[in-house]
Amino acid sequence: MSKESVQSIVFVGGGPASGMAARHILSSPNFDTSKHKVTFITPRSHYVHLIGVLRPLVTTEGDFHTRIFMPYDDTFLKGKGELKIGKVASIVEGPEKGEAVGEVVLESGERVSYDVLVLATGYAWQGPSDLPLDLRGASDHLKSWREKIEQAKSIVLIGGGAAGIEFSGEIKHYYPEKTVTIVHRGKQLLNDLYPEWWRNQVVDKTRSMGIDVLLQDQLESVETSSEGTVTTKKGQVIAADLVVPMWGGKPNTEFIGASLGSDVLTTNGQVKVTPTLQVVGHPRIFAGGDIIDRREYKLGTKAQAHGRVLGPNVLNLVLNRPGATLRQYGGVPDGVTITYGTANSITLLGIFGGLSFGNWLGWLTKKPKDLLTELYRRRFSLGFAKL
Ligand SMILES: Cc1cc2nc3c(=O)[nH]c(=O)nc-3n(C[C@H](O)[C@H](O)[C@H](O)COP(=O)(O)OP(=O)(O)OC[C@H]3O[C@@H](n4cnc5c(N)ncnc54)[C@H](O)[C@@H]3O)c2cc1C
Repeated sequence: MSKESVQSIVFVGGGPASGMAARHILSSPNFDTSKHKVTFITPRSHYVHLIGVLRPLVTTEGDFHTRIFMPYDDTFLKGKGELKIGKVASIVEGPEKGEAVGEVVLESGERVSYDVLVLATGYAWQGPSDLPLDLRGASDHLKSWREKIEQAKSIVLIGGGAAGIEFSGEIKHYYPEKTVTIVHRGKQLLNDLYPEWWRNQVVDKTRSMGIDVLLQDQLESVETSSEGTVTTKKGQVIAADLVVPMWGGKPNTEFIGASLGSDVLTTNGQVKVTPTLQVVGHPRIFAGGDIIDRREYKLGTKAQAHGRVLGPNVLNLVLNRPGATLRQYGGVPDGVTITYGTANSITLLGIFGGLSFGNWLGWLTKKPKDLLTELYRRRFSLGFAKL
């Protein structure tokens, strides 16, 4: 890269990890549009507020079916960056002496060169959370799930992670007369990142909401029998006219492994990073959010915390200030609220060895009611979708 040239910072992915990092960089007094350029590449014209996705799959109450789609208006990049709608298919690393350090290649064939690259491509979800890329398609997807839920009498969810539990809670809240069952292969709900004592409390809370919880069992297909039942692996027959896959997603990292070498990924597809969130062996490429290999909850709050480290580190690398050291990500205290419709919730705070709170903390944080929708819109200066 020549000294006179504009340094290019490229973000791949438009979620909270890259959103927070971009916000930091673009607000910094050290960011100078005559010397630095930010390009934000995402396959959608709008941010999808995943935290709010489950409610509009069940109801239009609260208008979440439009509110969760937030266009990346000019305010998002503060008029200082370029938004490029497209999907990155590969990364081509160049020699560091050239005009730029490397390029990302979009599915369209377009190439965008970078001096510093940030990868935050999140997870690919299945079933209800797998929203089409275009706004109209995503809106139709939500509507078709609302119709399926409305028509079903007995609904079985496969997978008792946080999303499965919250979805069961939404269904039961809006349709208390329907039978809702979670089939989960673990000994308790959630995964083993969560403390066992809290997982037990979550099972109790979920059951107290009128949701049936079947543990240490599995369903291998979403097909129902002609009698409207499903049979679990252990042979239990459950009434079901709708089976919903709520098992975990898969990191959107195949193109990263294919481009940078499979040694940058773990066996489950997560990106190996240094404590400064640089991809191992690739110091000018950073990664953050759900895709990184860190043993912590995959949450929007964590993704933003990564962004708070990514932003300053990317800027420091670009500014090339002598003696500047990169920040390390040391984790942030855990905090997670699982909601059951608009009024009920259970919260874990990772302080004093872990504290659990009932509905009142959810009421205080407004998560059950608002699903943090307006908080995220404000934080990232996102717009309102017109559907
Ligand atoms: C149903 C559900 C409920 C949730 N509830 C909560 C909650 O209550 N609280 C909480 O804190 N967290 C919650 N989460 C988790 C939270 O949404 C994620 O942890 C967070 O969104 C991760 O942020 P991210 O920036 O890593 O990725 P994402 O938000 O997933 O964003 C990834 C971005 O990358 C883009 N992308 C993917 N591939 C490419 C490519 N090849 N090229 C360009 N762009 C690409 C995507 O389109 C997207 O813009 C929930 C998640 C789901 C699915």
